[in-house]
Amino acid sequence: MKINFSSIKKLSNQKNMLKTTLTFILLIFSFSCVFSQNAADVNENIPQEISDGPYIFIEPNNLVEKTIVDGKVVSKILDKNAFDTVFTAETETFKNVKNIAALSDIHGQYDLAVELLKNNKIIDKNLNWNFGKGHLVLVGDIFDRGSKVNEMLWLLYKLENQAKKKGGKVHFLLGNHEYMVLHQDLRYINEKYKTTSTLLNLPYDKLYSNKTVLGRWLRSKPTMIKINNSVFVHGGISKDFLAQKNFNIDEINDTMRKSIDRSKKEMKSTNFYDEYYGKKSLIWYRGYFNDNLQDTEISEILNHIKSEHIIVGHCSNEEVVQLFDGKIYGVDSSIKKGKYGEILFIENNQYSRRMLDGQRKPFTGNAALKVDID
Ligand code: ZN
Repeated sequence: MKINFSSIKKLSNQKNMLKTTLTFILLIFSFSCVFSQNAADVNENIPQEISDGPYIFIEPNNLVEKTIVDGKVVSKILDKNAFDTVFTAETETFKNVKNIAALSDIHGQYDLAVELLKNNKIIDKNLNWNFGKGHLVLVGDIFDRGSKVNEMLWLLYKLENQAKKKGGKVHFLLGNHEYMVLHQDLRYINEKYKTTSTLLNLPYDKLYSNKTVLGRWLRSKPTMIKINNSVFVHGGISKDFLAQKNFNIDEINDTMRKSIDRSKKEMKSTNFYDEYYGKKSLIWYRGYFNDNLQDTEISEILNHIKSEHIIVGHCSNEEVVQLFDGKIYGVDSSIKKGKYGEILFIENNQYSRRMLDGQRKPFTGNAALKVDID
């Protein structure tokens, strides 16, 4: 048998070359893997990747849940009964309530609000209702400025159901910032929500449209309520507002509710916009803090509305304040700054300030007022 050594040598050379090339390719490949792995790690540390939601959209046959997790949209189809989609407005006058707690102007400061509610035992450590038959009143302005608006809304949504089962109540009154967002005035939304809006490919106000669970829930909410002898409203009740109409809380709430889906242009074509959205309206009025009103003028307003106290937010102070000998209380304690906040407690008709750490404190009087707008 004749062996062709030269062709074997040739073959072996070719094999070696192939081996070297393959090794080289493998080496490059593993290098690039290591490199791209490092690049991915670096990207994950960039805090641009927000988390937000859920936003629940109502479709004809089901619900669609959209959540943003680390900058990525996660969509889920839910059964149409997974959430309530019909919310009916209620009569907004309540009597014989022993315990009431009120705060306002949270403006997306969810973590601080949770701490305040926990330390004052309105919720427990697992964020469940702990206020028994008490009534918790949110006197407007949960939207805008801060970055955890959606979290706050879902917390209230949950607490509302839990409170109902215990004979208690959560009242979320709409403030000027709720109405601004619902009327597409998005000047004050947090940067985070611009990203959410881009990722979900919807204008921010459409995340709370009539085709969403929270949007419908919001549209059932009042602007003003009365509990015992106190009226709660975000801005306040001005003489000018009262001059225009009979004071009927349910009718006024109904008018405000219906105005949510009316265009500004349509409302501005009559004097409606001035009355309900102007400077002296329920949601924008600042007269108790800014107008040097006389005690008798406040008494006239209270006589007109057949109440003894009005509790408002909208003008920020450093604490919960008592004005006009306890006829007016201001509960916007600047939670929006994200550092400190208080709650007004009304227990058996006794009014007190409750601090962030849960301590009770007396009112310091008008001298401490440093009013800021909201
Ligand atoms: Zn306000």
